[in-house]
Amino acid sequence: MEITFAGKRALVTGAGKGIGRATALALARCGAEVMAVTRTQADLDSLLLECPSVRPVCVDLGDWGATEEALREAGRHVDLLVNNAACAMLQPFLEVTPDQFDTSFNINVKAALHVSQIVARGMKDRGTGGSIVNISSQASQCALRDHTVYCATKGALDMLTKVMALELGPYQIRVNSVNPTVVMTEMGKLGWSDPNKASTMTSRIPLGRFAEVEDVVNSILFLLSDKSSMTNGVTLPVDGGFLAC
Ligand code: NDP
Repeated sequence: MEITFAGKRALVTGAGKGIGRATALALARCGAEVMAVTRTQADLDSLLLECPSVRPVCVDLGDWGATEEALREAGRHVDLLVNNAACAMLQPFLEVTPDQFDTSFNINVKAALHVSQIVARGMKDRGTGGSIVNISSQASQCALRDHTVYCATKGALDMLTKVMALELGPYQIRVNSVNPTVVMTEMGKLGWSDPNKASTMTSRIPLGRFAEVEDVVNSILFLLSDKSSMTNGVTLPVDGGFLAC
């Protein structure tokens, strides 16, 4: 299945590392003009070396005002948005602090809502439609030990996806999420480097392995593309069957 994004403008948040970086590079390879948004300048510098056509934007998405300033103009011309930036702070339920809760919801949910507002307003005004993909997790639908706040943010993100699909659909703006199992990025290594712990998870995945970055990127590209033109409001597991069992 050939997917091309020639003539499309894409914005990827959290594009400095992991899934976001690979998504930005894949979109550029498929012909999109890509805006890469993240908060560590060194990551943008190395991304530009790898792909000089990418337009870098360095901003902390947890800062509403700074995000507004950074994306207000350029964000209005975007056709394809990937809300990927997130943090994962793991702790037992009884030890969750207000700071961990606020920081996590601020980045994982509020920033996705805010960037989507900026982009969707532009899509609506231009009348061109568009596609938004939120990067959620299997953790939105299944309890994972020490993941209280992370699970709660991803559950919220799934419902954000559905309400956005409902309200933005009439403007031909589709909104979907991908919900991966563990991927061994920096974030994945935080929780799952211990082989014993990892095997408790892989043993519950019918395909018997974690996801590769490429597995997730391929599903993101599908949902962004016209190949999924009637798909709206779904939460697509990329989990080897974990959530089905
Ligand atoms: P990484 O931690 O590898 O990368 C996250 C990227 O987001 C980094 O570039 C990071 O920048 C950026 N980012 C985080 N906070 C902010 C912020 N406030 N402002 C701007 N940029 C920010 O994560 P992954 O690639 O593993 O995860 C990508 C997505 O996939 C996330 O939504 C995650 O929840 C989801 N996911 C990941 C899974 C996994 O096992 N890895 C499983 C299921 C879902 P910096 O490093 O500078 O903070």
